[in-house]
Amino acid sequence: MVHSGATINMIRFLFFVLLYTQQFLQIESRDKWNYKDQDNWKNNKEWAKCGYDEQSPININENALVPAKFEPFKFEGYENHACNMTLTHTGHSIKISTCHDHIISGGGLNGKFKLDHVHFHWGTKENPQGEHILNSGNTIRKFKGEMHFVHHHLDKKSVNDAASEHNGLAVLGVFIEVNKEKSAVFDKIDEQIGKLLYEEKTVDIPEFPFINLFPEDRNKVIRYQGSLTVPPCHETVTWTLFTEPVYISQEQLEHLYTMYDGKDNSNGLLLNNYRKTQPLNGRTTYLADLNLNPNSGQQNHYALVIISILNLLMLLIL
Ligand SMILES: [Zn+2]
Repeated sequence: MVHSGATINMIRFLFFVLLYTQQFLQIESRDKWNYKDQDNWKNNKEWAKCGYDEQSPININENALVPAKFEPFKFEGYENHACNMTLTHTGHSIKISTCHDHIISGGGLNGKFKLDHVHFHWGTKENPQGEHILNSGNTIRKFKGEMHFVHHHLDKKSVNDAASEHNGLAVLGVFIEVNKEKSAVFDKIDEQIGKLLYEEKTVDIPEFPFINLFPEDRNKVIRYQGSLTVPPCHETVTWTLFTEPVYISQEQLEHLYTMYDGKDNSNGLLLNNYRKTQPLNGRTTYLADLNLNPNSGQQNHYALVIISILNLLMLLIL
């Protein structure tokens, strides 16, 4: 068969269109990641750090925790009613954003860190899981989910600016467990999930103080140096995990399994949005008792006021 010049030109044209489209798709796929492909994240040169030595999450041996002494955390702005709170389906999780400044310091952190957002990790009904795992020898403790409070150093404008800097990020991780009672604060999120079934959906949620999302007992924390648990996996995160979980009901947990993985139903449900645990590679994990009794600060304050009044009375009498 003999091709005419026009046919050959047409074939060439189609070939280049195909080549260009393929390259475009490769660029597209390079910017997008998913949990099913997590073993290959490190093979993308943009995300090579995902294969480095100080990655997160980790499986923490409770018998190997090194005792540490840190001053209590100072939470600033966390007691305020947050304004303009929004809940967004990010494509990989749901996140809560707010416009109030929420600042943490103390707790062994090096400097002050500002909250960017809160997001969640979960598994499936059959295999519920957060990201970090605790083990004490033969016993492995997986949680039903995990909540991450992502902060960036106050010297940086955003998480993006801070993520590649040493000591750039501080993430507070809260384990989620299930009991019979509904969590009143989690209900404010849970009630909106029906409006967040697809990626990029956003809703406003009723205001509440973010401190209510933490466990009441915030005394004991695990500390280690690690990374973002999603690409590009920067190793700039000071991790704090509260050993006391928060509790939600089974019904509330299962509502997390109803959202879709993407902008439509074609990829199925958004499940197992956790990264597998990464090798410790000789890193030290610490356990600190912050003695963070929520009332102790107030009690000290009252004690100081009473002592001052007594001193004043003494001066007046004398
Ligand atoms: Zn996370």
